[in-house]
Amino acid sequence: MGSVKDYFSSLGSGIASLIKGMGVTGKEFLTSKVSEQYPDKRDTIAYAAPRFRAKLQFIYEPDGRNRCTACGTCQRNCPNGTISITTKTVDLPDGKKKRKLDTYLYDLGSCTFCQLCVTTCPFDAIEFTNDFEQAVFTREKLVQKLNYLPEQPGDPAPKPGTPVRPAANVAAKPAATDAEKPASGNPATDNENKKEN
Ligand code: SF4
Ligand code: SF4
Repeated sequence: MGSVKDYFSSLGSGIASLIKGMGVTGKEFLTSKVSEQYPDKRDTIAYAAPRFRAKLQFIYEPDGRNRCTACGTCQRNCPNGTISITTKTVDLPDGKKKRKLDTYLYDLGSCTFCQLCVTTCPFDAIEFTNDFEQAVFTREKLVQKLNYLPEQPGDPAPKPGTPVRPAANVAAKPAATDAEKPASGNPATDNENKKEN
């Protein structure tokens, strides 16, 4: 008699367990799907989170100008020598010389994605893209030239939000040399004027 009771007791608990399991299955069946069919549908999937740091890149203006002044701050702040910048000196129309960016090399293979370069760039010239598909077959291909577009006459573009001098003033008054510039008496302003030149 006892074995019959045990039989129906285990049958009941088995059915209860089955109903519970089917309930979980039914709930997941009705929940919207979150899995993405990668790489088959790589054009439509959401890829990685926007804040994901996959690779450093230049911020280009719509007209192809970049904002890098070749100041070297990012290179100095990078803890492991991932950034290598070379500069060149160009002659300006007014006879002055100006240092400009020649090559900006970034080694994705040694980058730790700490973002120190981005946060310390005074001109907001670089950013991280979240495009994680960066697999290549050799380490050499991980070294990338970030200023890959042809140099524009207006390079570097000003940082967004930088006040632009009215064109009329620029045309009416030729650029003054350091010797011609009157000192304002304000050391901070005078230093800024020297930096601009
Ligand atoms: S990316 Fe920014 S910090 Fe680096 S050299 Fe260019 S302007 Fe300077
Ligand atoms: S994220 Fe860090 S390691 Fe990578 S280039 Fe910038 S400073 Fe260097």
